[in-house]
Amino acid sequence: MINTRAYAALKAGSPLVPFTLERRACGPRDVVLDVKFSGICHSDIHQARDEWGGAAFPMVPGHEIVGVVSAVGKKVKRFRVGDHAGVGCMVDSCRKCSNCRHDEEQFCEQGAAFTYNSTEMDRKTPTQGGYSTRMVVNEDFVLKLSKKMPLDRAAPLLCAGITTYSPLKRFGAKKGKVVGVVGLGGLGHMAVKIAAAMGATVVVFSTSPSKEKDARRLGARTFVLSSNAEAMQKLAGKIDLIIDTVSAPHDVNAYLGLLKIDGTMVLVGVPTEPAAVHAFSLIGGRKKLAGSLIGGIAETQEMLDFCAKKKVLSDVEVISASQVNEAYERTIRGDVKYRFVIDASTF
Ligand code: NAP
Ligand code: ZN
Ligand code: ZN
Repeated sequence: MINTRAYAALKAGSPLVPFTLERRACGPRDVVLDVKFSGICHSDIHQARDEWGGAAFPMVPGHEIVGVVSAVGKKVKRFRVGDHAGVGCMVDSCRKCSNCRHDEEQFCEQGAAFTYNSTEMDRKTPTQGGYSTRMVVNEDFVLKLSKKMPLDRAAPLLCAGITTYSPLKRFGAKKGKVVGVVGLGGLGHMAVKIAAAMGATVVVFSTSPSKEKDARRLGARTFVLSSNAEAMQKLAGKIDLIIDTVSAPHDVNAYLGLLKIDGTMVLVGVPTEPAAVHAFSLIGGRKKLAGSLIGGIAETQEMLDFCAKKKVLSDVEVISASQVNEAYERTIRGDVKYRFVIDASTF
């Protein structure tokens, strides 16, 4: 067993505290990752506070995990000691169902083994996440990182990156298309950078006037304060694809009205309350309201390679482990530019 320092929530909503856990010994197909940085996703906060229900404690959150490979099992082919690597939201899946065979492990019919607040595929062993010094993960669920990417700025790609890359690609973000991004937080700022790197014209919708300058620096052509009814009205029927990253209840009808005919709005944010959708918002213009959950492992590797090639990285604030509770509060207030990343040497 591998003794590992970590930070955990011991019960729903309690502050995270230092914690130790035992990782399994390195199996023949396992990779041991010495974690260097771990991003703070808003999903960590939702789950540590049990806002979606059914959370299991103690919980070590964290699914934006990057580090250096420190050991590999005898049968591991794709990794060597010293490689830079990452782990995202999943650590295993059944590998046999139709979705797994089509590289959509996030939709495994048996339920994937998510990185924390879940179990291994034995359905008994709880999984614990990346706010820790070490991960032990089957090589099929470990991602390769170019050594050209600074690890701290690459960490958020493992969730915020793939969660926005996947729907942008699937729903056709490219040159000549107008893409709206709702909410300029961790996911939102990656959506802006990736959509711009795909060649799309990007419009940011935000509740925060202070983010206008950053939105443009990150790659947006237009910034709209969502409370400005006149500015919203000007864009009615002008947008091909909207990626909605908002973590709190808000009116989706206001954005559906901005889509062109046959346009699509994709929900990736998961507010705690259901959204009310008026049928008229969809039927006038044959619009589609869709959802998207992270991405499969192959697509995550494709996204990392795309970001390495296009020099797309996250804007991060690196913190020590003792600042994690304050970082949660600041994330909820929208006061982060644009992702907190924990320095794992401080766990
Ligand atoms: P985040 O950094 O907190 O960003 C959320 C942004 O939403 C904020 O920066 C803010 O942007 C906007 N916002 C917050 N409260 C709002 C409100 N009351 N009304 C309108 N806008 C508001 O969070 P994140 O890490 O990007 O995650 C966003 C959501 O995606 C979370 O719900 C998370 O659980 C979910 N998520 C989903 C997936 C998936 O696979 N589908 C993966 C990861 C995360 P402005 O200041 O610009 O308005
Ligand atoms: Zn996440
Ligand atoms: Zn499966």
